[in-house]
Amino acid sequence: MTSGPGGEWRRHLLALMDELDVGILVIEAPDPDEPASFRIAYVNHECAVFAGREASTMVGARLRDALRFPTAGLEQVVAHALDTGSRLDVRGVPLSAAEEGLAGRKVDARIYPVADAVVVCFRPVPTARAASELMRHRALHDPLTGLPNRLLLSDRTTQGLRQAKRTGSQVAMLVADLDNFSEINDTLGHRAGDRLLVELGRRLERNLRECDTVCRIGADEFAVLMTTGVTPRGVEVVAEKLGRVMSENVDMDGLSIRPKPAIGWAVADDEVESDELLRRAEVAMFKAKKLRRPAMAYTPEMDVHSLRRLELLGQLERAIRDDQLMVHYQPVVDVRDRSVAWVEALVRWAHPLHGTIPPSTFVELAEVGGLSIDLVEWVSARAISDARKWLSKHPKVGVSVNTPVDAVTDESLPRRVRELLSRWSHPPELFGVELTESQVMEDPLAVVGALGELRAAGVTTSVDDFGTGYSSFAYLRQLPIDELKIDRSFVARMCEDPTDATIVRSLVELGHRLGLRVVAEGVEDDRTLRALRDAGSDRAQGFSICRPLPPDELVAWMSSRG
Ligand code: C2E
Ligand code: CA
Ligand code: CA
Repeated sequence: MTSGPGGEWRRHLLALMDELDVGILVIEAPDPDEPASFRIAYVNHECAVFAGREASTMVGARLRDALRFPTAGLEQVVAHALDTGSRLDVRGVPLSAAEEGLAGRKVDARIYPVADAVVVCFRPVPTARAASELMRHRALHDPLTGLPNRLLLSDRTTQGLRQAKRTGSQVAMLVADLDNFSEINDTLGHRAGDRLLVELGRRLERNLRECDTVCRIGADEFAVLMTTGVTPRGVEVVAEKLGRVMSENVDMDGLSIRPKPAIGWAVADDEVESDELLRRAEVAMFKAKKLRRPAMAYTPEMDVHSLRRLELLGQLERAIRDDQLMVHYQPVVDVRDRSVAWVEALVRWAHPLHGTIPPSTFVELAEVGGLSIDLVEWVSARAISDARKWLSKHPKVGVSVNTPVDAVTDESLPRRVRELLSRWSHPPELFGVELTESQVMEDPLAVVGALGELRAAGVTTSVDDFGTGYSSFAYLRQLPIDELKIDRSFVARMCEDPTDATIVRSLVELGHRLGLRVVAEGVEDDRTLRALRDAGSDRAQGFSICRPLPPDELVAWMSSRG
């Protein structure tokens, strides 16, 4: 440990010794002129803390001066070790110290003679009370950040809820989770990840009131319990503040990292219990994560686990399996001659108790419940088999299905679609998928890949509800798509509102410049259809042309138009 490469690891070794929670001191053999003078050659951080002094003032000092407690026993043991050259273990050496805090304390020490010095490693023996307090503290706190853990949070929440019930006050729970933590951990290593968590824990504590409990409840998940002065607006403000504070850059060895927190929160109602409150905040947090929002409040609609939703989800699963769903078809016409060009498949659920449930109610349920891909496959199968009813007479009229983004990016979708097409010998170019613009923007890169694969199989691809999803034109250019469907919110009022008319015209032009076909949705009168023709739209769809119809009625409608 002198020079060359050794010098480098000496530095590391010394730094490491300062991190240990064992006191270490190195004592030189006494000067022959001064036999009782044991001088200190080195102390680590823990030893200095134990002695209550700066390490630098201890080095070079005599043992009896440096340590503020009687050292006669220690000197004896050190002398013995030096004499015999053998290692010694001494347990429970009492510190009969006058110093405050040390009286009655004992240390366990291990003494190693090395050349003309001895190394003493010691650890205070905790008192029975200190030991039980330590164990309790450990059981209720996170060792890394020192913050309360999930168990303590649950306990405090229960107390808070009980008190709130008595006093009529409110309790709120916020949960924050880092979106990019595993990335940071993987690229910068676990130590960097640990440091980031410690830093975030400190930031949370600094920025909240003392009466709020900040906890670490999972790898990269923090929770804040608020039990005093809670109002929904107040919690919202705290959630915003947490988001801001957590996403400030952290310096990691010169590299500036920006944590990406997602925050969810819930305010307790009368009946809620501790675990349920935390679960609701987590549900809101997952929703915020999914929608890429910084913070969201819990609402029962988010909750796939709420009893009614769970019940419906089970029924939906059965409905898909047992063919209880129906598909209606809405024609899409050519704007110039109003001939039928295509049809869109729209699912319906005829629930035995609740009547017809519109897709807006259960499609999202299917998505959260992981049933999207099954739903899309079911609707596609039905649409492809129904298409045979009109294809003999209208051989160019294809059918499109609507697909949530998690079904499109499911790697099995292209295969499932190919299998269906070949089972029914349905030409791939007469089958299409629609994906809304905001779904495309949820994960543009994954969508590019998935749509590309479908398109390579010959399937037509459309961006639905176009104009509402803030898509970036850069992505739009890269998307493997054939068609834009202008959202009906612009189309419906284009004859009344000149701004809407301008938007529709611009969207048509944009689509054409990108080489795409343009469809206008939501045409509710003839005037709008004419305006769309003037605006250059290729196709149109809407109630004034035809409402969505069951397959047989659709075929009849098509025949009636020749
Ligand atoms: P979307 O894809 O934009 O479908 C068009 C919706 O607009 C349909 O409502 C249709 O009935 C309605 N519509 C058509 N013409 C007009 C009109 O002139 N005026 C007005 N006000 N509305 C018109 P629907 O069938 O209730 O579907 C709502 C949404 O549910 C669809 O919007 C689509 O996003 C989703 N959806 C429908 N079927 C499916 C499906 O099979 N799978 C999935 N994943 N989503 C579906
Ligand atoms: Ca659609
Ligand atoms: Ca649409």
